[in-house]
Amino acid sequence: MAIIIDGKALAVKCKEEVRTAVDAMARKPGLAVILVGENPASQVYVRNKQKDCQECGIHSEEFVLPADYGQPALLTLIAELNQREDIDGILCQLPLPEGYGYDEEAVLLAIDPSKDVDAFHPYNVGKIMIGDPSFLPCTPAGVMKMLDEYHIDVDGKHCVVVGRSNIVGKPMAMLLLHRNGTVTVCHSHTPDLAAVTRQADILVSAVGKRNTITADMVKEGAVVIDVAMNRNEQGKLCGDVDFAEVEKIASYITPVPGGCGPMTRAILMENTLHAAVAHGK
Ligand code: NAP
Repeated sequence: MAIIIDGKALAVKCKEEVRTAVDAMARKPGLAVILVGENPASQVYVRNKQKDCQECGIHSEEFVLPADYGQPALLTLIAELNQREDIDGILCQLPLPEGYGYDEEAVLLAIDPSKDVDAFHPYNVGKIMIGDPSFLPCTPAGVMKMLDEYHIDVDGKHCVVVGRSNIVGKPMAMLLLHRNGTVTVCHSHTPDLAAVTRQADILVSAVGKRNTITADMVKEGAVVIDVAMNRNEQGKLCGDVDFAEVEKIASYITPVPGGCGPMTRAILMENTLHAAVAHGK
């Protein structure tokens, strides 16, 4: 049976470390979270971020805006937040509502890269690519931290990442590559996905579809990281991986919930702290 990687416990530890650092600062870090429209999942994420900030002693401000707030007003708000000294991190919850003419790329570009705690600005994406990150991408960095915590060495391992989004798959592949993993990235056009995943020493799934990874797709003793957050028929949170079967053959596995989700949130707190330090607080 696999060892279950406890992302929840590690996230608590990471946040405690942030709290200790924040308590020693003369001026507290500040995080601004912008939510446009009424996407229920985004509302939950924003509430959770607010809670994390409270736990870490970080000042947080939420801007909950109507769907028709509009691109020009949104860009004006971001420009104001870029100027504010009490705000170190700015994030705009994506996706933006459809049908109102929002341009997500322009919104990401508008955020001052030194306050881009999600690491979505092309400047920060490029820095991650060249291995000189100012901010680590939250979800992939959370995965790396879990691997480190459990002393799982990436060097020389065949790492297979399923999913190639800008938020998870691509930056995940980069972080594994920078640790000397041999990285294969799969996506919806990959023929015979199972043939590739079976070669993985470390398998990261970030697809967003239940049972994408079944036991026959996993090599005995592989490390299996499930990034996805899906709902089953009962509305319960689950990942991409058939956990009950895969845990019988993997060496380590992350649960959903309690794996990547809490760690993503903890890294956001770390990034906000780092931004504040970089801003001289
Ligand atoms: P996304 O933008 O929808 O990307 C999904 C990726 O999966 C795409 O690259 C897609 O390929 C690939 N894919 C789809 N079907 C596939 C298949 N049958 N075989 C192989 N690849 C397939 O999603 P995302 O934003 O990366 O998020 C992925 C999952 O992670 C979601 O469940 C999301 O909720 C979760 N997530 C969790 C956290 C966390 O904190 N734990 C953070 C972010 C995201 P194409 O590129 O070819 O379309």
